[in-house]
Amino acid sequence: MNERLSYKTVCDVCYKKTWYEGPRKCSYNPCPGTLRVIDYSSIPEKFKGYLGTGQRVRVKFSWGEVKTGTVGLTTGWKPALLLILTRRSHGSSYILDASTEFTSEKVTRGGI
Ligand SMILES: [Zn+2]
Repeated sequence: MNERLSYKTVCDVCYKKTWYEGPRKCSYNPCPGTLRVIDYSSIPEKFKGYLGTGQRVRVKFSWGEVKTGTVGLTTGWKPALLLILTRRSHGSSYILDASTEFTSEKVTRGGI
């Protein structure tokens, strides 16, 4: 289990993650937030092992674009995995969803 996917709840105000199992008041004083149960259902199993490793993956998106990058995680109670581009990226990132596949095809340049 990836440590970053083992948190149970996240505060809706300060976004701190905890291992408390159910909804409760945020324990970080003086934060007025409430812990919400994290929903990992939008995270595809196939990419979980790459999260936070810094390892590059090459993937093809449902619209045909091929990109390489490392895998990151969005914040919030329903996190998603991101492909963080490693080359001339200017901080661009793409959501990795269930329709995204690993590929060995050539990386596509430019595009929209
Ligand atoms: Zn909080």
